[in-house]
Amino acid sequence: MTATTGPILPGQTLGVLGGGQLGRMFVHAAQAMGYATAVLDPDAQSPAGLVSHRHIRAAYDDSQALAELAGSCAAVTTEFENVPAAALQMLARSVPVAPAAAAVAIAQDRAAEKAHFVRCGVPVAPHALIDSEQTLAAVDAQTLLPGILKTARLGYDGKGQVRVATRAELADAWQQLARVPCVLEKMLPLREECSVIVARGRDGALVHLPVQRNLHRDGILAVTEVFEGNLPSVGVDKALHAAKSIAQGLDYVGVLCVEFFVLEDGSLVVNEMAPRPHNSGHWSQNGADVSQFELQVRCMAGLPLAQPRQHSPAIMLNLLGDLWHRAPDGSLVAPPWQQVLALPGCHLHLYGKTEAKPGRKMGHLNVTGATPEAARATALQAAALLG
Ligand code: ADP
Ligand code: MG
Repeated sequence: MTATTGPILPGQTLGVLGGGQLGRMFVHAAQAMGYATAVLDPDAQSPAGLVSHRHIRAAYDDSQALAELAGSCAAVTTEFENVPAAALQMLARSVPVAPAAAAVAIAQDRAAEKAHFVRCGVPVAPHALIDSEQTLAAVDAQTLLPGILKTARLGYDGKGQVRVATRAELADAWQQLARVPCVLEKMLPLREECSVIVARGRDGALVHLPVQRNLHRDGILAVTEVFEGNLPSVGVDKALHAAKSIAQGLDYVGVLCVEFFVLEDGSLVVNEMAPRPHNSGHWSQNGADVSQFELQVRCMAGLPLAQPRQHSPAIMLNLLGDLWHRAPDGSLVAPPWQQVLALPGCHLHLYGKTEAKPGRKMGHLNVTGATPEAARATALQAAALLG
């Protein structure tokens, strides 16, 4: 990131590369603080483009569009780790970019990411890189099978992953994944999954959100719960410390999410990181006094990073396209919002997507309560209404 003199103050323009829901919620947070926003995304209907002051409709590697974004913004961030790191590098020549291209490049590659975790002294799953017949043949089946073969790049929501039990299945799976570079990970006995969001400023100041407990369905995050005592088996301090060392080791500026596995024996293993706000941090919009999106704004603008305070036990329910259905006349029928919103402490967030496909993230529902029990009871009622 290029040096800047002081903070970027409200009234100036903040840019984001990528126009998905994370970009949309970033835009909302920036606008609430008085910034103007610019979004670069090729899709005319992108969730963030629809709500931004400015939407540059172009591919992420379109150099003219990148120059336009850099020229119109005081700083740029990203909401999507598969934006080419080269695009961030190009932007960084003329405008402060956070997180830096180098950190994003590491997060884009499972092999590089794991090597970084190891450098930081944080345990990872036993794994091997498979990028040739030789590395495939050299796999130590004893240690790594059964395992999960994951493409090194461009995977998300469980896509680009195949579970394998034998050498023959592994060879087939690599074929199925078009023989792109992959990481084979040992299948670990998971007790639970959790994540930690940290935010690190240009001056090295580091703040964090509390440890989040995540439940996945079909490889996609379904529910996040955040309240004291929801993770009895985890060394919460260990997770926070690991996430902070990972951010510091990258000299990271921005919001970073680190995902962990808690194994059956209670030990903690880091899974992956996302160089941006994360689905598991959405609860902070209603359960904390500073949301992960406000943290993203503060980081890139060089504003002070206040340590967030969770004020309510919170549960986030992801709303996937499966909850919408077609009426006989072909119109799209949404879940019964009126009934859901009649429940206490329910906060609806929809991303403005007009097409509902199975597995597509359409929105989320944040449920807050005075106590964990109250939040849980409401979340159960909401889930029943959602069907
Ligand atoms: P994505 O990039 O799609 O989020 P992840 O690597 O986080 O990919 O995997 C998605 C989910 O698959 C994890 O949240 C976890 O439930 C399961 N999973 C992934 N790797 C392992 C593993 N080594 N052992 C057991 N379960 C795993
Ligand atoms: Mg994941």
